[in-house]
Amino acid sequence: MALQLYNSLTRRKEPFAPIDPANVRMYVCGPTVYDFAHIGNARAVVVFDLLYRVLRHEYGAAHVKYVRNITDVDDKIIEAARTNGEKIEALTQRTAAIFHDDMAALGNLPPDVEPRATGYIPQMIAMIERLIAGGHAYAAEGHVLFAVGSYPEYGRLSRRSRQEMIAGARVEVAPYKRDPGDFVLWKPSSPDQPGWPSPWGRGRPGWHIECSAMSEAHLGPHFDIHGGGIDLIFPHHENEVAQSECAHGGERFVNFWVHNGFLSVDSTKMSKSLGNFVTAHDVLQHWPGEVVRLALLSSHYRDPLDWTEQKLREARQTLDRWYRALSLFAVESEASGTEEAKVVEALKDDLNTPQAITRLHEIADTVFRNDADRFPLQKALSVGGNILGLLGSHPLDWLHQGEAEISAKVKERLAERALARKERRFADADRIRAELAAEGIILEDKPDGTTEWRRG
Ligand SMILES: [Zn+2]
Repeated sequence: MALQLYNSLTRRKEPFAPIDPANVRMYVCGPTVYDFAHIGNARAVVVFDLLYRVLRHEYGAAHVKYVRNITDVDDKIIEAARTNGEKIEALTQRTAAIFHDDMAALGNLPPDVEPRATGYIPQMIAMIERLIAGGHAYAAEGHVLFAVGSYPEYGRLSRRSRQEMIAGARVEVAPYKRDPGDFVLWKPSSPDQPGWPSPWGRGRPGWHIECSAMSEAHLGPHFDIHGGGIDLIFPHHENEVAQSECAHGGERFVNFWVHNGFLSVDSTKMSKSLGNFVTAHDVLQHWPGEVVRLALLSSHYRDPLDWTEQKLREARQTLDRWYRALSLFAVESEASGTEEAKVVEALKDDLNTPQAITRLHEIADTVFRNDADRFPLQKALSVGGNILGLLGSHPLDWLHQGEAEISAKVKERLAERALARKERRFADADRIRAELAAEGIILEDKPDGTTEWRRG
């Protein structure tokens, strides 16, 4: 079966056929570096890392080019630097470094190219000049705006009406705009704001033109896949299409638009004001990256994902189980590849990770049942897991690291519980027992007053 991908442009699953199988090209919108990435941002990175791995598996690692940018000039960055009393460069370098560390901890491969917007200002200016020359943009009061009326296809990707687009973009009403839907390609900078000389005075680019210029620089005017979170479809991706197609004489920009679904936290929309803002960095202080990655892949990428502690606990149990299956003794023998092919088939069906995970469970079940010829199944489990970016540790390292951590944590809780019992705070003692039970730790009180524990 050919790889099937859901294309947001056509709203259906389609067989993926690259423009050039020797050079499969994908662009994904990267972070704006001013703060920690939240777990929803991490989900997008993990989803497109998985797609990258599946493409490499299909076409060969040397034939796939993955570009993910860093937005290092943006009004949010200017604002955060001011609030922190930090130089813009120091802020963007520091935040980008944390982003790289956290994404590596989640098992993501680095993209082939990671362009930073500030390195492409001449290309952005050149693209804006082409848009003006073609009648798709105009300069006014130090700004350059894209004229949405000049592009009849505007709204095709997001399938929004003009009214919806104007409402959805929360457009600024500005006297220099010819149409309220026109969006900024270039804007003037005050002396305290970052800026570059341009034909329209000292200024800086709008966010949308950054991605159009960087994708063109590395992937050409027309490439295979453009990805991002579903919240980017409008206005960001709609505007990218308008800019790129108009700058290239109407040539098609992207064949497949791929978007991952929303993420909620404990069934609530994540927001700073609600206090349920979860950063990838924080989660990684408490859980191994592989556990977080599996939890992020446990739902299909297009479905909404509800982020809960329970998902993390389940992911940890799953990985413990898979690593236990891999740690069992086996005599080396011929691997057939048929079992791992089932995992690959699931992923080739629009990255069906829940099904791929079910397949891996089935393979692990067979490993536990079958002590005669385990080796080919262990091989299938390991190779199948690796395509998901999982099971990369040595099984014994994983299991020992897990045990040491659990045993230290349980010992701490047992000491708390012993103290509670000594002080006759029996409700507290029962609560600790229940909390440990929820994590799969069973306590047994001995007649001599000591407590033993085991994993249930
Ligand atoms: Zn973008």
